[in-house]
Amino acid sequence: MSFTTLGLSDALLKAISEKGYTTPSPIQQKAIPAILEGHDVLASAQTGTGKTAGFTLPLLHTLSENPKQKFRPIRALILTPTRELAAQVYENVKEYSTYLNLRSTVIFGGVNQKPQAATIRQGVDVLVATPGRLLDLERQGLVSLKRVEIFVLDEADRMLDMGFLRDIERVISIMPEKRQNLMFSATFSPEIKKLAHGILRHPVQVEATPENTTVDAINQKVYRVAKGLKTGLLTKLIADGNWKQVLVFTRTKHGANKLSEKLGKAGITSAAIHGNKSQGARTKALAGFKNGSVRVLVATDIAARGLDIPLLPHVINFELPNVSEDYVHRIGRTGRAGASGEALSLVSADETTFLRDIEKLVGMRLPVEIIEGFEPDPNASTQPEKRQQGQRGNRQNKSEVKAKTGNTDKSQARGRRTRNRRSNS
Ligand code: AMP
Repeated sequence: MSFTTLGLSDALLKAISEKGYTTPSPIQQKAIPAILEGHDVLASAQTGTGKTAGFTLPLLHTLSENPKQKFRPIRALILTPTRELAAQVYENVKEYSTYLNLRSTVIFGGVNQKPQAATIRQGVDVLVATPGRLLDLERQGLVSLKRVEIFVLDEADRMLDMGFLRDIERVISIMPEKRQNLMFSATFSPEIKKLAHGILRHPVQVEATPENTTVDAINQKVYRVAKGLKTGLLTKLIADGNWKQVLVFTRTKHGANKLSEKLGKAGITSAAIHGNKSQGARTKALAGFKNGSVRVLVATDIAARGLDIPLLPHVINFELPNVSEDYVHRIGRTGRAGASGEALSLVSADETTFLRDIEKLVGMRLPVEIIEGFEPDPNASTQPEKRQQGQRGNRQNKSEVKAKTGNTDKSQARGRRTRNRRSNS
């Protein structure tokens, strides 16, 4: 199938061909015609599937088909959970609209709002935004969503994880009722279904899994190791394999910093990427990783979500996530586009429960290996470590906390929301 059969304008086809795309990805084949027909769409797709072009191309087509309005009110809003994702989506919007008479911009927190407000004042057709900054500007009367025709909610599941439900509801309440809605999510929990039900009208449902990122296509292995020997083992694996580009996941921001420092001391160039890093530092780390000057990128789940890093040969779980679905997201970053990928997990005794939960989710026992000199500690407890601040809890942890403190899930979610918002929007 070629892009020319999808009904997109010549101006868009030209931009697509300049990007070097020849064939629409499965999600694009399904979503683009449905969006062009004006339907609401509910798409199950994660990063790597080509989802961004899947909604951006038909959105730009629709906007450019209708005459532009004198003062260029915001006609399309794309809401994303993180700054990185917002910046990436905006890059795509800019590239695809090269030959169209449409203006776009991006707004997110952590940087001065003045230039953002000034650009919006001059008139933009497409706005890419994270919820916090968008609502900040809206409350100051610097943004109006009253003329939005198309609303895209990208990575809806992560939005909810990050506690943005209230913000999404507020955003919806300040847009016109009559509009086209497009919602993208990698997972479909009951909360996501509820949200979709509230936003979408008779949606067309489309689904796509990333190319070659099924769990089967990835070589997964577990190294059982003593907690204190993990850094040494990671250093050895990187050196022995002469790995040039490694994405390493830690559970906490502090852990990411600590590990990155230790790797640096061991002579391995590395950078940490997480919500407490300034926007400049994050962009620099990502650019370094992409151009090869940074060999290891140490990331937390939320920071890594949505990062457009194609073709990663190695993904390492320095610590297993306590939310099993995050494991699938993490390892989905390797083995893309036909390349073989390896997802290795360094697992200490206290992570045994997480490992069992993950194995249940992926439906297989993961092969285990022990490396001489990096053996697990036979005396270590298999109880999960106490929950650390800023960490998302699994069900078990939440009820433990609840039992101890009398906190309700709601008040915890509020705390989590504040923390996450501060560090991510
Ligand atoms: P996304 O899932 O939107 O994050 O896109 C993942 C990667 O695929 C990005 O680097 C896109 O530039 C690229 N991409 C999107 N559509 C296509 C296509 N039809 N052919 C080749 N690459 C694509």
